[in-house]
Amino acid sequence: MEKKEKAFNSFEMAQAQFDRVADLLDLDTGTRELLRYPMREYSFAIPVRMDDGTSRVFRGFRVQHNDARGPSKGGIRFHPHETLDTVRALATWMTWKCAVVDIPLGGGKGGVVCDPHHLSLREQEQICRGWVRQIARNVGPNQDVPAPDVMTNAQHMLWMLDELEAIRGEKLPGFITGKPVGMGGSLGRKEATGYGVVYTLREALKELDLPPEKTTASVQGFGNVSQYMIELYQKLGGKVICVSSWNQKDQKAYAYRKLDGVDFAELMSITNQFGEIDREKAQALGYEVLPGDAWIEQEVDILMPGALENQINADNVGRISQQVKIIAEGANGPTSPEADEVIHRRGIFMIPDFLCNAGGVTCSYFEQVQSNTNYYWEKEEVLSKLDHKMTAAFHSVLEVAKSRNLYMRDAAYVIAIDRVAQACRQRGWV
Ligand code: GLU
Repeated sequence: MEKKEKAFNSFEMAQAQFDRVADLLDLDTGTRELLRYPMREYSFAIPVRMDDGTSRVFRGFRVQHNDARGPSKGGIRFHPHETLDTVRALATWMTWKCAVVDIPLGGGKGGVVCDPHHLSLREQEQICRGWVRQIARNVGPNQDVPAPDVMTNAQHMLWMLDELEAIRGEKLPGFITGKPVGMGGSLGRKEATGYGVVYTLREALKELDLPPEKTTASVQGFGNVSQYMIELYQKLGGKVICVSSWNQKDQKAYAYRKLDGVDFAELMSITNQFGEIDREKAQALGYEVLPGDAWIEQEVDILMPGALENQINADNVGRISQQVKIIAEGANGPTSPEADEVIHRRGIFMIPDFLCNAGGVTCSYFEQVQSNTNYYWEKEEVLSKLDHKMTAAFHSVLEVAKSRNLYMRDAAYVIAIDRVAQACRQRGWV
């Protein structure tokens, strides 16, 4: 059946979310104009000599949405469907994310249109170095600080750092975060996004008077974010009964279900570097294998989308079980505005993405501080500071939500946009 609807565009979604709250805040036209669009955008070609001797050109992006509160900050995604608009949306969300947790950074994002599944390590290294060569003048510890995101990791970050240091002729460990531990990386960075999700979830459960050990959850995705989300939630006593993950061979996702709770270590042992669970092995281990989108219709208390944008949308929001009480958005932009309205109406407690998954960038900020001072902290110190920041941010959003009778997403936006707008005003930009 052919669908006539307009294709989903995440940047339009980010702008619609902004407009809604700009009205609530009664923002002046100048500030609106400034914050609705990125301040700077770079789109460039990355020529690479492939292993077979041919040359290929990859498309690279970096968008700096706003840097009124500090250097732009945000990850770099490697994805075959990346576009300038996805990067614009993600850069915008980074601005709000850094503001809501109150770290002195702005928002940026980068991307390369490529699929690492089909690239050798050497080819990936060439893409990383080529990306840096194209943008070297416009990034750096005091301008714009990248980090890992979908399908990029610590090794990619180190190649990028090495390239910038070679160009500049100096060591600049504060240029990029998510570096390998021992090479300027921070302990706890790998865990930070997923753990941060669970710190906010823990607080939401307290608010709703739900003991974690009496709750169940269903998770979308099994990459870096979801893995640590599941690990810590289960440590709190919660039970994950369903996890969905992409299957590269079949070019589709599957949901893996075990009603008495998935075994995290066991799932990890049958998962590849991209967070893809081996379907045959899962089946052999007694998991029920369901269609990928079945994660959304499970009878659980908590839904945790931890993959990509637009995964809860007008088409599937109606399949969310009556039992669901909380949605913790580990991914960026997982819920479309139409679906969000339904969720709001149903009274499900929403922990919005840019609050919920801010643990990654918060730890990146800690990494920057450690790199810039060349003094590295113990893991306990990193994680306890992270918990403190996330918990404080959650409660300031909750307080605004309660006192102004707002949906949690709108409350988070009110705080974030207000902080960024104030910074722009104080600098005399608007
Ligand atoms: N890519 C992560 C995010 O979307 C982390 C960004 C960072 O650490 O700068 O929040």
